Amino acid sequence: MIEDLPRCDVVVIGGGISGLVATTALTRSGLAVRCHEARGRVGGRAHTVAHALGPIDLGATWFWPNEPNVLALARELGLGGFRQEAVGDALLHRQGTAPVRAGGTGGAPSLRFPRGAQSLAAALADRLPHGALHLADPVRAVESLDDGTIVVTADSGTQAARSAIIAVTPALAVEAIEFTPPLPGPTAQVALETAVWMGGTVKAVAVFDEPFWRQRGLSGTAFSSEGPFREFHDMSGPGGSPAALLAFAASDAFVRSDDLETAFRSQLTRLFGPQAGKPVSVLTADWSRDERTSPAAPSPYASTATYGHPVFQNGFAGGRVQWASTETATDYAGHIEGAIRAGSRAAKDIVRLLSPQEVQSTNATTVPIREGGHSRASHPTA
Ligand SMILES: Cc1cc2nc3c(=O)[nH]c(=O)nc-3n(C[C@H](O)[C@H](O)[C@H](O)COP(=O)(O)OP(=O)(O)OC[C@H]3O[C@@H](n4cnc5c(N)ncnc54)[C@H](O)[C@@H]3O)c2cc1C
Repeated sequence: MIEDLPRCDVVVIGGGISGLVATTALTRSGLAVRCHEARGRVGGRAHTVAHALGPIDLGATWFWPNEPNVLALARELGLGGFRQEAVGDALLHRQGTAPVRAGGTGGAPSLRFPRGAQSLAAALADRLPHGALHLADPVRAVESLDDGTIVVTADSGTQAARSAIIAVTPALAVEAIEFTPPLPGPTAQVALETAVWMGGTVKAVAVFDEPFWRQRGLSGTAFSSEGPFREFHDMSGPGGSPAALLAFAASDAFVRSDDLETAFRSQLTRLFGPQAGKPVSVLTADWSRDERTSPAAPSPYASTATYGHPVFQNGFAGGRVQWASTETATDYAGHIEGAIRAGSRAAKDIVRLLSPQEVQSTNATTVPIREGGHSRASHPTA
């Protein structure tokens, strides 16, 4: 019986940055919120691992000076930031030729989180009211009843809510969550064809004792048309510690995971010399195989053209279910900045629906959406 189910105002599905921003804003508006995160950790694609030499980002790495909401949130949460070192020459490696110095650093000025990008999610989670966050508790089904009740089934059980937010990548949500009634046809189609930002990417990181490339006047940036890794960057921590180089490749460039590490080491050696082939350790993440990020069967038509599509702005079930992952943002989609904007917008629309008198206070307490800058994630791959 529906009346016997536990009740709350809003269920947020996903504890990545967008879901945590939404949960924060909704709880600050006085609504009772449960945020369900499938993994045993928060942060989603903001994933920092503890290495003996310091934190290493296997997902998001940078933010930029023209991303006002990331800057404001980092400041509010006391996370700090440091400038990505960008001194020295970039390298160009054209197929069949030796790598050459290209001059310039090859990178736009960027900023980093001293404790890694996941620290943003962890700090948001730490400030949530007790009992709001449910880890290792994936949502399996969302049912919209005629009376407006939203029934959400997670592994821990079923509950009734007045509203819900899907803060999961849209294509994965369609694949992994059973919607009753089924999602409106155009919404399901758009969601399925919305590419997961960086969802087809392998990120590899080599950790070193010191950033030796800097002594040779190299920035750590390299572009390779030979592949399989196409783009390399310095990912060292503040003051060069931990010293690290990262690289991106398309995940379909590899057949097996051992191909991946061997290819990474040998490209590092070709580009940066023998010392680069002997890192302290190598860490890799293939985001195409991450079942909480990318659908098992991505659409062959998946593209970024549907980022911020109107179907994601209005939600469904009379606006009671809203979308909030970075891909749904109308600006900066793909980036952390987009995730913050999407989570804030979804929360604001739900507060407007459930308790219009609260909208004024939500405007004051949600992470404000600050305008400025550009309208699409700007970094070539991240
Ligand atoms: C390799 C890589 C590099 C990147 N580099 C940068 C960068 O340098 N700068 C930048 O700004 N951005 C970068 N990004 C993008 C950035 O990570 C994302 O924009 C941001 O983290 C997205 O947050 P989100 O909340 O929208 O989605 P996600 O982080 O994907 O969060 C979705 C959450 O939903 C959870 N979930 C999934 N299914 C369920 C379910 N059924 N029930 C409950 N929970 C579920 C997931 O576990 C996840 O925690 C990068 C991403 C990757 C992968």
